[in-house]
Amino acid sequence: MYLVYSVSDCHVHSKGVEKAERIVKAMDAANVEKIVLFSPHPGLMTMDTSIISREKFRECVKFASDIQRYDPDRIICFAFIDPRMEGAVYEAERVVCDLELKGFKMIPAGWYPYEERFRLLFEKIESLRAPIIFHSGISWGFPDSSRFCRPVYYEFLMFYPKIRFALAHIGWPWVDECLATAGRFLAAVGWDNIDKTQMFIDITPGTPRLWRSEALRKAIVYLGSDLLIFGSDNGNPEDPERFKKVILSDLAILKEELGLTEDSIEKIMKRNLERFLKGVS
Ligand SMILES: [Zn+2]
Repeated sequence: MYLVYSVSDCHVHSKGVEKAERIVKAMDAANVEKIVLFSPHPGLMTMDTSIISREKFRECVKFASDIQRYDPDRIICFAFIDPRMEGAVYEAERVVCDLELKGFKMIPAGWYPYEERFRLLFEKIESLRAPIIFHSGISWGFPDSSRFCRPVYYEFLMFYPKIRFALAHIGWPWVDECLATAGRFLAAVGWDNIDKTQMFIDITPGTPRLWRSEALRKAIVYLGSDLLIFGSDNGNPEDPERFKKVILSDLAILKEELGLTEDSIEKIMKRNLERFLKGVS
């Protein structure tokens, strides 16, 4: 019944096999207006940096840019990049300036977001004004994720005040830590200056259902509804059911359990993504 809502989705994965027209068809069927589609992951998430392939990365971002070209108003592609990749600074510029991808996705698997060696990459991304979505929270994708993926590690992005970023999964299980980090960024620009703040929260599940309404309630009470962006984590964007499942479940929580106004629901499910993509004002 909630499919009357038109939504936008900030967290969709490509495997590198999809057809753009099928993605758009699935979006129509689930009433999804816009998606942020991550380019296919360029390699194994690994401690062994010697197997991170620049060539594979180029293939993946090329695939994404071809998909984006089919309907650039509705499919916004972000480049999945490993900052340890050789030539990452050059490639980041190429991805935005030549391939016209709109931002970056990163998972700190085997590296820490605040490492000094990535300074030039973050400076480049800041100068490109490209937003970043980071994985945060425990991950099933590699063995010791909790060593690298804590939300507070992103506090260092204060040094790059024009980088707009979102932490995914509300940092599950470090939900409070994630909210505190967002609060810290908001406090730095003033609590009313939501368009100047760097950090948004991508509410893509990760939080098991048992914790989800509580996590969302805390996020909304603490930060308001302007900094939360809906995401599905759909790993098969040609399948409308994968979108629908998360949309329906989150709308039920926001409406029935938390009793949010229509305006707040529309911000979280759709409008905040536009503000996120615009960058820090
Ligand atoms: Zn994901």
